Amino acid sequence: MKKTLHSEFEKHVVRKDGCWDWCGPSSKNPGYAEFSYGSNKMRGHRASWIIHFGEIPKGLFVCHNCDNKKCTNPDHLFLGTCKENNWDAIKKNIHPTLGKPRQQNHNTKVFEKDFSRIKDLYLKGISQKDIGALLGVGQTAVFKVLRLLKIKRNKKKIDAEQAREIKNLLQEKNTQEELAKKYNVSQSTIHHIAIGRTWRHA
Ligand SMILES: [Zn+2]
Repeated sequence: MKKTLHSEFEKHVVRKDGCWDWCGPSSKNPGYAEFSYGSNKMRGHRASWIIHFGEIPKGLFVCHNCDNKKCTNPDHLFLGTCKENNWDAIKKNIHPTLGKPRQQNHNTKVFEKDFSRIKDLYLKGISQKDIGALLGVGQTAVFKVLRLLKIKRNKKKIDAEQAREIKNLLQEKNTQEELAKKYNVSQSTIHHIAIGRTWRHA
């Protein structure tokens, strides 16, 4: 069988309630789930993100909100602007640059060349705050650009019949990214259906 990111990931992942286990190798310090993929090493949580949500936007990191470095449960992952080994420090607000209190990050200059990047990131589901951190400006500046460009995230809702279709298509191995495009909804809408957070009984 052809080795794909998905097939290699599946060899090691142990799906269960809560954090997922990993029965494969892990990286030395810090101990992330890891496996060989082609000539490279791939981290389990990054592979999980790509498999469940699609590509990782340039400049962003896949972080855990469960503080369990081996966990690859997509529900416990989020995109952030920090390297994960900085994450605890940031939460405690002690990181030398990223964790500085907000008022030191109130630069409102957003260059026009960044407008399309802001739009792209926002439509991918990145928060205004994280986009601001990425560009070194405050959240308000990002908000103003989005308002200027009249960009809103698509809040289109789906109905029960579509939810059933989506569930079937997921079983037929359509990716969440493909389905988000097909139904013109955000990828998290599809993800929530996939994990049963919404439309559980549809
Ligand atoms: Zn977890």
